Amino acid sequence: MTGVSQNDRRYWETIKWSFGEDGGADNAAGGGEKKTEEGEAAGNETGGEKDFIRWVDFTPTKEALQTAYEWDKETWAEQIHIDWISLLAYGAVKGGGKFDKKVISQMNDFANAIRAGEKTMEEAEELKTFAYYKEIYTAVLGGMVGSYRIEVPGTDGNVTWQECYGLKAFSPIAKGFYYNDYDDFGAGRSYGYKRRHLGHDMLGQIGTPIIAVESGYVEAIGWNQYGGWRIGIRSLDKKRYYYYAHLRQDVPYAAGLTEGDLVTAGDVIGYMGHTGYSVSENVNNIDAIHLHLGIEIMFDESQKDSDNEIWIDCYELTKFLYRNQGAVEKVEGTKEWKRVYDMEDPALNSFLETPQESR
Ligand SMILES: [Zn+2]
Repeated sequence: MTGVSQNDRRYWETIKWSFGEDGGADNAAGGGEKKTEEGEAAGNETGGEKDFIRWVDFTPTKEALQTAYEWDKETWAEQIHIDWISLLAYGAVKGGGKFDKKVISQMNDFANAIRAGEKTMEEAEELKTFAYYKEIYTAVLGGMVGSYRIEVPGTDGNVTWQECYGLKAFSPIAKGFYYNDYDDFGAGRSYGYKRRHLGHDMLGQIGTPIIAVESGYVEAIGWNQYGGWRIGIRSLDKKRYYYYAHLRQDVPYAAGLTEGDLVTAGDVIGYMGHTGYSVSENVNNIDAIHLHLGIEIMFDESQKDSDNEIWIDCYELTKFLYRNQGAVEKVEGTKEWKRVYDMEDPALNSFLETPQESR
């Protein structure tokens, strides 16, 4: 697909213009830590013949995500369900990946027309580049909306289980904990080697509970020279790798969390800190206390640990996820917190029912 390599080139040019050869060091924050996790890594199949997407600009704004999501949720029980990923792909086609006010109103007009029976999503599917955007947005957002069961507090104070449909992904920062951030994706980093910042930093207080954005399994946990105490969680469809880094000194993780564990979206997985930038373990070498959140997208497993990893800008996505912050409560006598309302994610059940060899 020609659009992909153009995006790629444009991206690199942007970075070069913005930061020059020096990469504009920023000592305050967290690092494009991932590249070095397993060293220079995994061969160069990416230069070969296999056909898959090699770079992604994830550009939907919070407003675009919200608009598409509201349509999805609202029409879920209707005869024609407008799924948010398709509506976003439609918007991307209309704006060439730019989601301004005009594009958002085009999305609304199109959804209204579908609802009125005047248009169909099939018409959008025929548009050039629709399939491309849909594949990208499915890779990024595929596990975030769907059916789930969750505990809900009643007016009498009793908690009951409810069947729901909607956003089942969470903000990485627990409810009631302040943080601040700005779009710092692509900024230069200089610790270790010159590189780009392949993630999003959320600044807050030491010990702020860090929440699993999506259900998945713990693929990596432990010390990394760049990320400090970090956790890597793979989504159950294997398309996304969530990287949570710089976790708290001494008590970085939720008690007992180990590699291979399954986590449910909304679980407390660790605590904010400023570890990292050190070859020795458990060292606070990062100036600003923050969570580094990275989201890596894989269209092919060979991309996972390669020189061609795809990390997306997740700033607007975290702004959108803010509407679903998980409530937590202190575990008395410890430095730990746990979620207040349990959730059942059917994606976990289907994963468990899948024979190990076909996962
Ligand atoms: Zn960072």
